[in-house]
Amino acid sequence: ISTGLHDLISERVRDVPDFPEPGVMFRDITPLLADGTAFSAVVGHLADVFGGEVDLVAGIEARGFLLAAPLAAVLGVGVVAVRKAGKLPPPTRRTAYDLEYGSAEIEVSPAGLRPGARVVLIDDVLATGGTAAAACRLLEDAGTTVTGIGFLIELLALGGRDRLPDRPLHALVSY
Ligand code: AMP
Repeated sequence: ISTGLHDLISERVRDVPDFPEPGVMFRDITPLLADGTAFSAVVGHLADVFGGEVDLVAGIEARGFLLAAPLAAVLGVGVVAVRKAGKLPPPTRRTAYDLEYGSAEIEVSPAGLRPGARVVLIDDVLATGGTAAAACRLLEDAGTTVTGIGFLIELLALGGRDRLPDRPLHALVSY
């Protein structure tokens, strides 16, 4: 990405040490989302990268929603929510995935997924890649194809990219 866009983003990401637990450096994108110029530049950039061969944008709860929805609207396609388990009414598709300690589950509503749809998956931060890999599994088990994955931020040290092979993966800034 351009230096201008990179700086626009990186100057508006707040580093919060030891949140939500000791040893984690939380990358808080609140100041970025709250800045109209930076927010629309980010959405415009994602539209340039992922526009074209896409039928649906999927966002991962919760901050992924805030990027996926405007991106879908700009591209003129629909949006689907990949949610933490227990929030969507039935019927749903659900999958479990491992966290550093324990496991978690995410869900989608098949009502939003047309088989054969080309889906771009969006989240704010790529850390270990476990969440995005589970989301890909969920979307593809429902008969769609994940044709691209986008993140605002990639945490390189956690190697998340290695868990998401065989697909174009784009992150705007990396740490
Ligand atoms: P992972 O499955 O490990 O890639 O974790 C990804 C999810 O956790 C994303 O939805 C992120 O929003 C969140 N996340 C993980 N690590 C961080 C971090 N250091 N700062 C902000 N969000 C994070």
